[in-house]
Amino acid sequence: MNWDKLLADCVKFTQRLIQTPSMPHEEGTIAALIAEEMRQLGFDEVWLDGIGNVNGRIHGQDRSLGALVLNSHLDHVDPGDLSLWPVPPYSGEIVNGRILGRGACDIKGPLAVQVYSMAALLRAGERPRRDVVFTGVVQEEIGGAGAVYWVEHLDYPVALIVLGEPSNNELALGHRGVVQMWLTFSGRSVHASVPDKGENPNYALARFLTRLETARHELSQHPLLGATSVAPTIIEVDTKSGNVTPAWTRVLLDFRTASESYRSLKAFVERLAEDWPHTITDAWCAEPTPVPDSDETIYGFYTPPDSEVVQRVRTAVAAGMGREPKLTSYQFATDGRHFVPYGIPIIGYSPGEEELAHTVHESIAIDKMAESLRGHVALLRAF
Ligand SMILES: [Zn+2]
Repeated sequence: MNWDKLLADCVKFTQRLIQTPSMPHEEGTIAALIAEEMRQLGFDEVWLDGIGNVNGRIHGQDRSLGALVLNSHLDHVDPGDLSLWPVPPYSGEIVNGRILGRGACDIKGPLAVQVYSMAALLRAGERPRRDVVFTGVVQEEIGGAGAVYWVEHLDYPVALIVLGEPSNNELALGHRGVVQMWLTFSGRSVHASVPDKGENPNYALARFLTRLETARHELSQHPLLGATSVAPTIIEVDTKSGNVTPAWTRVLLDFRTASESYRSLKAFVERLAEDWPHTITDAWCAEPTPVPDSDETIYGFYTPPDSEVVQRVRTAVAAGMGREPKLTSYQFATDGRHFVPYGIPIIGYSPGEEELAHTVHESIAIDKMAESLRGHVALLRAF
């Protein structure tokens, strides 16, 4: 295996990916670029599906086994104010051993590692143990329509999905689920010149938020996926007039949890809000969150650390990297949650660093890509 050439080609491919902007709904150019690269690298099959996801397959020694799927997304978030970036965000410049730019760690560098780990076997005249399919899906950053389309149209068995979301070359075994609910306080609207004649719900909201700030630490924890968090985000009132007290005011509560249910969270909010007239309505629950008013625990995805699949991946990746990967979890949500209802095991493994994703300092370390290539190649051989 010529590791130096493999890494050099993988780095160049990453730079080209960064130089090809691919905001959600605008992934066509990058999908074509990746398809062309996979064809040139000698992949057995390359195809685009009905929503614009790009797929590439290399055949394994035993084609009767379920496939190993390497999943990344094609889109990225907006670069924002360009003057805040150390280099132009679509330059893909290399500075101090790191490739810089929007999408470098989330997720174009990891995507390149996935594609080139497959290419590595082809170049060496080897075959993976089972079929390996690369899948680059659209619209991850705006809800995951590409991943949903992919899994709904899946027509081959899958043994494991490896997510390219940044995990710092450790194994990310899951993340919390998202639940958002509106809490509305009602009052009585009057002219702002005579506030005592009405009932201003903003005071109830203020007192509620103070209680929430203290009580939020009472929410439960998951041993690996972490503590339940709650953040009040949007606040709205019914009126646009500055000289009228509101009839109602509402706050959106964003919960992240792997240990609470919709009902337990709702009960928590009810308890803190009970002194004032209020209603709770659910705004949005991310899949695979059970329908509201269930006692089922909410989570994003979770692959237990003691499961056989985790042990096998850990052993293979450790042999490739020459060190044991830690078992960890993501803070953010991923497309992994869309695959849970289908019962396919999911593990995140990627050279990107989560804390750099979506920032103006987004970059990826070339030496981490090198380590990840070795881990991926070992995984493809052994899994
Ligand atoms: Zn991502």
